Amino acid sequence: MSKLHIRNSTELIEVENVYCIGKNYTEHIKELDRLGHDSDIPVEPVIFLKPNTCVQSIPQSVIIPEYKGHKISKNLQNEVELVVVIGKDGVRIPVEETLSYVYGYAVGIDFTLRDIQSEMKAKGLPWTLSKGFLTAAPVSEIVKKEDVSNPQVLKLCLKINNEIKQQASTSEMIFRVDYIIHYISSIFGIRRGDLIFTGTPAGVTKLNSGDRVYAEIEKIGELNIIVN
Ligand code: MG
Repeated sequence: MSKLHIRNSTELIEVENVYCIGKNYTEHIKELDRLGHDSDIPVEPVIFLKPNTCVQSIPQSVIIPEYKGHKISKNLQNEVELVVVIGKDGVRIPVEETLSYVYGYAVGIDFTLRDIQSEMKAKGLPWTLSKGFLTAAPVSEIVKKEDVSNPQVLKLCLKINNEIKQQASTSEMIFRVDYIIHYISSIFGIRRGDLIFTGTPAGVTKLNSGDRVYAEIEKIGELNIIVN
């Protein structure tokens, strides 16, 4: 089981479910449209899951899996995201009470095998393979919510080999953190240790072996990941 570290604490949090929101920034939806994906603005949050084996306690690298002697993808891409860490169990939480269920926040990267995702979407098949592989969800140290006065005004940034590829603000989310928690808790329930990846802004890019990926969210922290 992966356990995440907490800033200024010896406590660890065991990762339970890993929820992810797709299509939560308008500019990213436009770039997906250019990649041949559908460009509808969602009416409710688009939810998918990653197995919690995607999260490493000390993330350092991302590796495209090999199967039968071949790497399963030729197009690994970055998606920097604000990650919400749930601190207590709940169901059907009213929007105005959701933040009391938050333990804290972290920086995450929702690594994606875009060629597999595109192929599976085109066939109408589940695209778990493209998002759920080992190392696909590095998460930084957690910052307690008391140290983040407003999760909707944070600057996100992702660099590849020191070049800025993604730069945005969490104010641009289509669905805000409180609504996402309300929605997920109403349908699935939430548990302490659940992570919610809240979607990525524009700037997803094909990565190559040896690339250094640096992700940062203001007031939260940073991640340094090598592409193997
Ligand atoms: Mg994503």
